[in-house]
Amino acid sequence: MTVEQKVKELHHFINGELVAGKSGRFSNVYNPSTGEVIAQVPLAAKEEVKNAIEMAKKAFPEWRNTSSGKRAEIVMRFRQLVKENEEELIQVICTESGKTKEDAKGEITRGLESVDLAINAPHLLKGDYSVNVGGNINAYSTKSPIGVVAAISPFNFPVMVPFAQTSMAVAVGNAVILKPSEKVPMSALFFSELWKRAGLPDGIWTVINGDKEAVDELLANPTVQAISFVGSTPVAEYIYQTGTSYNKRVAAFGGGKNFMIVMPDADLEKTANAFIGAAYGAASQRCMAISGAMVVGKETADQLVAILKEMIENLKVGPYTDEEVDFGPVITQQSKDAVIGYINRSIEEGAKVVVDGRNPTICQTSKGFYLGPTLLDEITPSMEVFQQEVFGPARIVVRVESLQEAIDLINDHELGNGVTIFTNNGAAARKFQEEIEVGMVGVNVPIPIPVGYYNFGGWKRSKFGEGFMFGPDQARFFTKSKTISEKWLNGDDETSTTFAFPSN
Ligand code: NAD
Repeated sequence: MTVEQKVKELHHFINGELVAGKSGRFSNVYNPSTGEVIAQVPLAAKEEVKNAIEMAKKAFPEWRNTSSGKRAEIVMRFRQLVKENEEELIQVICTESGKTKEDAKGEITRGLESVDLAINAPHLLKGDYSVNVGGNINAYSTKSPIGVVAAISPFNFPVMVPFAQTSMAVAVGNAVILKPSEKVPMSALFFSELWKRAGLPDGIWTVINGDKEAVDELLANPTVQAISFVGSTPVAEYIYQTGTSYNKRVAAFGGGKNFMIVMPDADLEKTANAFIGAAYGAASQRCMAISGAMVVGKETADQLVAILKEMIENLKVGPYTDEEVDFGPVITQQSKDAVIGYINRSIEEGAKVVVDGRNPTICQTSKGFYLGPTLLDEITPSMEVFQQEVFGPARIVVRVESLQEAIDLINDHELGNGVTIFTNNGAAARKFQEEIEVGMVGVNVPIPIPVGYYNFGGWKRSKFGEGFMFGPDQARFFTKSKTISEKWLNGDDETSTTFAFPSN
């Protein structure tokens, strides 16, 4: 029996049940920590996606008409079930993504912030009301769900990102179709069962597994009203352009190049500690990972690099089954090769290697997709490794002369997801936060990911479309508003005809 025959065949989750794929096309799902194929995920054909959309469409009216309080109760039960099954979910996340257990737990906790906000959907669904805007007319606005909506997710947060994209969409009354990353489909299938057990009606929650073919059907199908996408910038741009060409509402979140500015007055030990976790955690596979340090002044840079070198050389890379490891493998062999390619080319372009993680010792005993932490110094803006998002543990140091130079370099970069400054100078911090053209900004905070009740989103080519993840904007994005002008006639009210444009 071949490996391919032994591995588990995964399904879709349609109309409240697991449904086998019919296209005959599959993709391998790996355990990145061992390099083994652990499952095969079906890649849906257009027809399968169409059928799933039809099921969702049928289920929608009853869910729309369910009271917002009742819907919130089901979301609350879902939250409780996620907590009750947390250990198992952590296991699934770690197996398919290679994250450490602690990191997987953190991802669930942050994901639940979006679920918590969704439990408050009745509050966010409140409209405005004005009495007697003219002639005894009362004006008010309402928010209604928009129908069948879709979320397309990346591999690096198998739980947190889908929760952020979908919890509010469900709570405000839509029928939701999730297309998870084909690299990590098992977490989504796991929590689909929890939605069912929480009492969500069949058809309101769908997981359709697949690749571009499935996504293209979601983009083109006229029943799908809105698309929430999270992934790389080139695909985000494609999703935005295609989805809007079909007149859909689209919010598409892309990649990041997130710098930590280090000022000469910063406490370098504390700054280095903050840098290490934010830069290398999850093998740097976070859209908000710190991509590099932008250090002001030669002396500060020399000192920081020396501290970082020592710390980085002591980091431990390995499987999630080892509680001691700092971070795990990258997601696939292709991903590993891509990161090594970036490092090699940066050296050809003149980068100085401070720590070389291309061939960590664990690779002598494991076939997992491991890379050690790499630090590259003397990076200049013309180098590829400065311009591109590198989705793996190769981080850079850029040396600048002044805060202004750092701000200008970051503002000129095409990506603008996150940024942070480490300083003890209030005036510098204030100038930085006022002038920087980036969506999520930190001051002495290593990863400035907003808490779940604030809007999340980058600027420039890190986000396409007007919509945010997390936060109250989710309730706006997944509803349409209606404005009503209402008057009740008394017997003595005037009913004469007027051809003048009505005014108050
Ligand atoms: P990806 O763009 O390769 O894939 C994301 C999703 O799009 C997957 O579901 C995939 O199946 C689908 N897809 C891929 N190619 C497609 C195509 N040509 N047409 C249609 N659909 C396609 O991203 P990834 O590698 O899974 O995730 C990592 C990327 O996501 C990084 O760039 C990271 O910065 C970004 N990310 C961004 C945020 C954010 O909030 N801005 C959050 C997490 C991850």
